[in-house]
Amino acid sequence: MSVKCNLHTHTTFVDGKNTPEEITAAAKRLGFSVLGFSEHAYNELDLDCCLPQNSQEYYDEISRLKEKYAGEIDVFLGLEIDAYEKRDTSMLDYFIGSIHGVRTENGYFIVDGSKKQLQELIDVGCGGGCEKAYKAYFEDYIKMAVALKPDIYGHFDLITKLNGAGEFFDENSDKYIKTSLEAIEAVRELGGIFEVNTGAIGRGYRSLPYPSLPLLKHLFEKKARITITSDSHNVNTLDCAFGETSELLASIGFKERFILTKEGFVPTSI
Ligand SMILES: [Zn+2]
Ligand SMILES: [Zn+2]
Repeated sequence: MSVKCNLHTHTTFVDGKNTPEEITAAAKRLGFSVLGFSEHAYNELDLDCCLPQNSQEYYDEISRLKEKYAGEIDVFLGLEIDAYEKRDTSMLDYFIGSIHGVRTENGYFIVDGSKKQLQELIDVGCGGGCEKAYKAYFEDYIKMAVALKPDIYGHFDLITKLNGAGEFFDENSDKYIKTSLEAIEAVRELGGIFEVNTGAIGRGYRSLPYPSLPLLKHLFEKKARITITSDSHNVNTLDCAFGETSELLASIGFKERFILTKEGFVPTSI
C-alpha cells in the first residue's frame, strides 16, 4: 500500500481504548500519512456510545494534534454520525454516516451489539421476520444517507456482523442480495465514498471486510469510490488487514481508493 490512510478511528472520548494522542503517535510509527478521527457523534438513541451534544473538548483535542503533528502526519477532524436529520458539520473536515441500529414502531434495536439484541430486532421490532429485519436496516441506511449526505458511507452491511455462516438469514439468497444491491445503488447515486471497513476482522467477527464480496463487485462495476478503513478502537488495529484487503480489492479489479488531503478527497493507488 502506497499512502497509508485511515479515516475511521475511535478514541477514549467514547468507546475506544486509546487517547487521540496515543493513536496519532502510533499511526506515525506505523507509517501512516493520513489519520482521521471519527468519534461517535451524539445519538439520543444510544447515549452510552456517543459524544455529548457539545463536543468542544473533542474538537479542541483533535485540532491540537493537527497542529502538533503538522508536517509529520495529516490529522483530520471527523465524526461518525448515526442520525436521520441534518446535523451541523461545518466544524468538521469530513464525516462518516453509519447506521448501528434499526428504528422500528416497537423501539430502537442495535444490530452490532449482541446476538440477543439482533434476535430482539427480528422478534420484537419486526414481528419475527428476518427478511423484514434486514429490509428495515437497509431502509434506515438509505434514510440516513439521504438526510446526511455523508462524505463516507460507514460499514454498509453491518447487519451481517453477527450473522456468522447464516445463523439469522441467508446472505446468499436472492432476496437478500436483491435488497442489499438495491440499497447500495440508492446510496451510491448520492455520490459518497464507500468505506471498505476491516473493523469486524480486527474484533474477530468476520474474516472479510464490509461490504460483502457481491457488493464490492457491484461497486467496482459501477465505478464507485472507495476508501479502506479499520474502524479502529485501539492502537493495535489501526491498519488491521489492510494488506489482505488491498489484495482482495485488486483481485476484483479496483485500481484506486480515496484518501483525504487538505485539498479534499483524492484518488491514490490501491
Ligand atoms: Zn460504526
Ligand atoms: Zn466506527
